[in-house]
Amino acid sequence: MRVAALGSGSEGNAVLLEGRHARVLVDAGFSGIEVERRLDTLGVEPETVDALVITHEHRDHTSGMGILARRFGWPLHLSEATAEACDDLLYGEETLRFYRAEEPFRVGDLEFRPFLTCHDSVEPLALAAVESETGHKVGLATDLGRATTSVRAALRDCHFLILEANHDEVLLREGPYPWSVKQRIAGSRGHLSNRLAADLARELHHPDLAGVLLFHLSQRCNEPERARSRVEKALRQEGFDGELDVAVQEEPSRLFDVSELLARVRDGGGRPQLGLFEG
Ligand SMILES: [Zn+2]
Ligand SMILES: [Zn+2]
Repeated sequence: MRVAALGSGSEGNAVLLEGRHARVLVDAGFSGIEVERRLDTLGVEPETVDALVITHEHRDHTSGMGILARRFGWPLHLSEATAEACDDLLYGEETLRFYRAEEPFRVGDLEFRPFLTCHDSVEPLALAAVESETGHKVGLATDLGRATTSVRAALRDCHFLILEANHDEVLLREGPYPWSVKQRIAGSRGHLSNRLAADLARELHHPDLAGVLLFHLSQRCNEPERARSRVEKALRQEGFDGELDVAVQEEPSRLFDVSELLARVRDGGGRPQLGLFEG
């Protein structure tokens, strides 16, 4: 399976997932034109996308969904409550496929396993995707205030994890937002801090975790290096030898090939090793 973020942060989120026989976009929180531009950067023609899956109605996940679904005929997978909550983006011409938590659905060779998260939207969902032939599993854990027991269970045994690291708790506390917004972000239905992301990463670590992409970083209350070092420290203590990267708002991440990353961690060469006799 291959994975890339088209971009991530409070201004827009989208993820590309590719199986051998399916190409799926999860969320489309940019304008239609911007999603097309970013797909182009990744070498993907929008006509080749098989479906768009929406996690929840917040605009940083949905702003391009209606126009893209109409322009390219992409089937739109979302929950009924989410569709109602963003009916201003839908003209009735789109192909809607409703899904629910705990009811897996397929697009080509990808099986999506949706689960509920804790977040202040009408029906906050996140997903894990499993590729039939390889069994490789990619988990998407974003827009959640806390990782509940069921979230942690749904994300077990992932080979690649897209993990929210929204804010640094100190930067949020001292940052520019009014108190009520700070409460919302830090609350159990808000967003995951670097500290909670590190705890979750540590808990979800297993020898076949080959890559982690940090996601949904706040531009005001986080810094990529802070998020990375916090999560990296937790993961390396567990023996993580895979790839860790941070998705940014302005441009797509690189395209991660899960099979390749997994082969490298199984070889014990996930990241450059220090030569024994160096220095
Ligand atoms: Zn969001
Ligand atoms: Zn949200």
